Amino acid sequence: MLFAPILAALAGAALTLLAGEECSQCRAEPRRTVLCSTHLGEELVALREERSIMARSKERDERIGALERVAQLTDTHSNAPSPNVARFLADGLHDDALGVRRRALSLLIDGQHREETVRGVIDGWKAAQRAWKEIDARLVAMATDTAKGSSIMTRQELEDWPAYLEEVLAALGGLEDERAHRELLAVFKWPLDRTPGRFYVAAARAALRADSRKGIETILDFALSLEAELLAERVPLRFTAGAGLLSALLPAIDNAQTPHVEELLAAVSRFAARKDVAATPTPPLGAASQWRAWFKTAKDQFAERLTALE
Ligand SMILES: [Zn+2]
Repeated sequence: MLFAPILAALAGAALTLLAGEECSQCRAEPRRTVLCSTHLGEELVALREERSIMARSKERDERIGALERVAQLTDTHSNAPSPNVARFLADGLHDDALGVRRRALSLLIDGQHREETVRGVIDGWKAAQRAWKEIDARLVAMATDTAKGSSIMTRQELEDWPAYLEEVLAALGGLEDERAHRELLAVFKWPLDRTPGRFYVAAARAALRADSRKGIETILDFALSLEAELLAERVPLRFTAGAGLLSALLPAIDNAQTPHVEELLAAVSRFAARKDVAATPTPPLGAASQWRAWFKTAKDQFAERLTALE
């Protein structure tokens, strides 16, 4: 009995720590964040120290440690996350090391300053796309000329980079922001633009976390044109045999194929079920006209402006 209150107090402390503490003197105003002198002082010292680690440390883990310490600054005033902290973390999305980018992303989307998080993730997505373009160019070189020494790829580039791009796409969806939503829909351009099929699926899942007529229309249109292009045999696989040791990994980053169409349509069906509108066509494949009729009937029940589902 004697220990019960102590245990309860400990449990309470652990909970508060997890959720982040609030500070009654720090405040988030509509256009600015005002930190109390204690927390502002802590932030200035920490940012100076950790910035120098980010700039000079060659060790990936040291840079990750710096990001983690900066992210923790918010824990004592979670009611007023500082934009400077979010910007510091967002810079990590441009780090040379993929492991640093991944850690920076997970820290950034975890309760940090909202506006700077939105900007940071969108910027990080653009940086990730640029990095992927370079990897893709080297993949092409490797697939066309196996003897070419400069085009050696690592397993990490072929496995971890696509996974990171999917994480950024998921993060964009989690932001529930018009600008982030537009970035997601911009992925759906044309089935032949060399975007790996899995990126379309990740972008669709992320975008359909929100209720948006434009979103559902873009993804459905894309899925149906991809299906038609595949049927007409106009979406060839890019990487066939000849890429050596890594050839087993290449199908996972190749052009979209029929299973991707199925996954895109399944995402649309799940969205329809959550919205409780008319049932989507089954089977989903080979039903383009039914899908179009379905959209026509259901579209007025989708939000014209982005709204969070749930
Ligand atoms: Zn404070």
